Amino acid sequence: MVRRADGKKTQIVVVGGGAGGLELVAKLGAHFGRREFDIILVDRNSTHIWKPLLHEVAAGSLDANLDEVGYRGHAYRWGYRYFDGALEGIDRDAKEIIVAPIRDEDGTEVIGRHRIRYDYLVLAVGSVSNDFGTPGVREHCLSLDTRADADRFRRRLLNQCLRVSRAMTADPSADAYARVAIVGGGATGVELSAELYSAASALGFYGLEVFDEKRLQVTLIEAGPRILPALPDKLAAAATAELEALGVRVLTGTQVVSATAEAILTKDGETIPCDLKVWAAGVKGADFLKDIAGLETTRGNQLVVLPTLQTTRDPAILAIGDCASFVPGEGQKPIPPRAQAAHQMATTAFRNLRALVEGKPLKAFVYKDNGSLVSLAKYTTVGSLMGNLVGGRMAIEGRLARLVYTSLYRMHLLAIHGWVKGLSLLLVGHVNQVVRPKLKLH
Ligand SMILES: Cc1cc2nc3c(=O)[nH]c(=O)nc-3n(C[C@H](O)[C@H](O)[C@H](O)COP(=O)(O)OP(=O)(O)OC[C@H]3O[C@@H](n4cnc5c(N)ncnc54)[C@H](O)[C@@H]3O)c2cc1C
Repeated sequence: MVRRADGKKTQIVVVGGGAGGLELVAKLGAHFGRREFDIILVDRNSTHIWKPLLHEVAAGSLDANLDEVGYRGHAYRWGYRYFDGALEGIDRDAKEIIVAPIRDEDGTEVIGRHRIRYDYLVLAVGSVSNDFGTPGVREHCLSLDTRADADRFRRRLLNQCLRVSRAMTADPSADAYARVAIVGGGATGVELSAELYSAASALGFYGLEVFDEKRLQVTLIEAGPRILPALPDKLAAAATAELEALGVRVLTGTQVVSATAEAILTKDGETIPCDLKVWAAGVKGADFLKDIAGLETTRGNQLVVLPTLQTTRDPAILAIGDCASFVPGEGQKPIPPRAQAAHQMATTAFRNLRALVEGKPLKAFVYKDNGSLVSLAKYTTVGSLMGNLVGGRMAIEGRLARLVYTSLYRMHLLAIHGWVKGLSLLLVGHVNQVVRPKLKLH
């Protein structure tokens, strides 16, 4: 039964075309699209970039223009419709989402606030960084939530490197540095620290003749007793040693109490002067999700979902990825906000949406933790693999770890483009590594 009683097409609306949402609409479009169903994607941006690449975009080692996917072209290929716009609210009685007005660069309204009907709605709007209300963070720290954030960081970093280079040209004995403080010793903070050194070492080849990694000072600040809490002690120690060898100052057990325009201040009373500050100390759901349309949300604004990924108070609304809070069993921890979780949830949501429209029983989401891997740029990759194949948890480092790390992005490319285009893009990616500049400096 695919037509509604009023003869209209059954409409499945997915909000958020990120790691989970874009994979889901590609599957839905391929299966249902252009026939009796109307599959709609709503995203506030017109292009998609896989979020785990953002630290590379920020450091300039990846040109996001080459990796981003335009939703309009993707929608045409996969048989769904794309609407530009930011979700603002949900009218559950009318079964409509409310989309904020769309404005042009000058703030002039292009399309007013409007509504889109749904029969089934999937929220896949991701997460934002959580500053835990720390004074000064919102005003003075950058985050890596979006491509725009990563671009802003890269421009500011490059400007600072230019200042240092100019100062060194004028006076070779000048005490000039590009000082970056990164708050949060999880995967994002660690990966960005290493990527910055990798990029700095290449800047000399791209016109900044008197700049190299010795002019970069990165301080990585973690409140917990060690960095990378998701990884075993041994791997966290290996990553710490690698970062320190690069020149990163790794501070653990250090709580940040505030940020100013010039520095980060710690609870121990230390003032860490810095030119750029990045906040990467945890994520939460966006504020607009808090109690949205009376749905159950956590203190961190995530939508609480059942094992079927349906929200607890409305079976027609599902949530996947970082914006969903799913606790697999009593006393267990919620599924972590990771790309692999978003990928797996997209698969379960697709199956369950199919079951819902076909009136079949729904399946429970089972999270398969394949392990965690952290890339230290070109230097090394560390992590742990999970699974029967490796007999539980296995620590890995180096080339093998790098191979597995990159396979997650490969799987995403194949999921959103299909085998032929996905494999072709992987090939083009390899060619670009050879023919394109190593850094994006604009
Ligand atoms: C630097 C960095 C490195 C990471 N590395 C890893 C890693 O190595 N491995 C790993 O597993 N995970 C990693 N992650 C985490 C991973 O990126 C996220 O868990 C994953 O992207 C979540 O997928 P998602 O679909 O829930 O959300 P996202 O991929 O964030 O997509 C959300 C989408 O929703 C859209 N959106 C947001 N708000 C609205 C709105 N109001 N209206 C309309 N659209 C909206 C956004 O534009 C976006 O397209 C990393 C994250 C970062 C920042």
